[in-house]
Amino acid sequence: MAEAVDSARPAAPNGAAGVAQVSVPAVGAQVLRPAAPDGTARVVLLGRQGSGKGTQADRLSALYGVPHISTGDAFRDAIRNGSPLGRTAQGYVDRGELVPDEVVVGVLRERLLQAGSLGPESTSGFILDGFPRNIPQAEALADLLAPDGLDVVVNLDVSTDEVLRRIAGRRVCVGCGASYNVVDNPPKAPGVCDACGGRLVQRDDDTEEAIRRRLEIYESVTAPLVDWYREQGVLATVDAAGSPDEVTTRAVAAIEAARQRKPVR
Ligand code: ADP
Ligand code: ZN
Repeated sequence: MAEAVDSARPAAPNGAAGVAQVSVPAVGAQVLRPAAPDGTARVVLLGRQGSGKGTQADRLSALYGVPHISTGDAFRDAIRNGSPLGRTAQGYVDRGELVPDEVVVGVLRERLLQAGSLGPESTSGFILDGFPRNIPQAEALADLLAPDGLDVVVNLDVSTDEVLRRIAGRRVCVGCGASYNVVDNPPKAPGVCDACGGRLVQRDDDTEEAIRRRLEIYESVTAPLVDWYREQGVLATVDAAGSPDEVTTRAVAAIEAARQRKPVR
């Protein structure tokens, strides 16, 4: 029986309290490290359900010292707490539909404010996971961040066959939201979160029907963002097949290359 719970490690250097919840995931020693983990990286992660967005966002958040902002986690928290936002979001989330743009943009704006990432003086970065999910949301994000914009949009590329296999093994922690996969990325003790000791469960919206619906929506309204961001010169596509450490290394390499091209703010 696993009683030992990893002691809480310090939060990321620049992660605002209450936003970052950096649970310091296990990142292998061989993973490429950022040259300047100074809390200023501004990154969006794109990728289908099961592409490893949540897992990679956690790792990149810890490596770069920036908060991981996940709109899906924000809705799951709100639903768990029974807040008004949770009541609004629940039906959409359960069906695998998108929550209306005005609601999700409001949530994002609040999280960016808490993280200190908005406003002319702000240099605080973030890893966005699950936002934007359509072109109007991407336009809203550009407006919020103007005049600075993003450093890079990392597109985690993986086949549909592979994502279906991964989603079947996906488990999340009820305590801190960390994600695992029983096959590819198992916790040290079955059913127990490495970071907080919480219980690992399947997500309520990981039913076959809701997954099918989310993948359909991804292809129709989210995938067009790949071209949209490519045209703006901020897209980096990363092969997301392989171990979590391999994908993290590729993602860090892509972020480093993009940040070197970008003039210093
Ligand atoms: P997945 O990537 O597996 O679909 P997420 O955790 O990113 O999971 O999102 C879960 C659910 O939260 C979505 O199915 C949707 O209902 C809602 N959601 C999350 N982000 C957004 C967003 N940017 N716009 C609209 N709805 C969202
Ligand atoms: Zn946990």
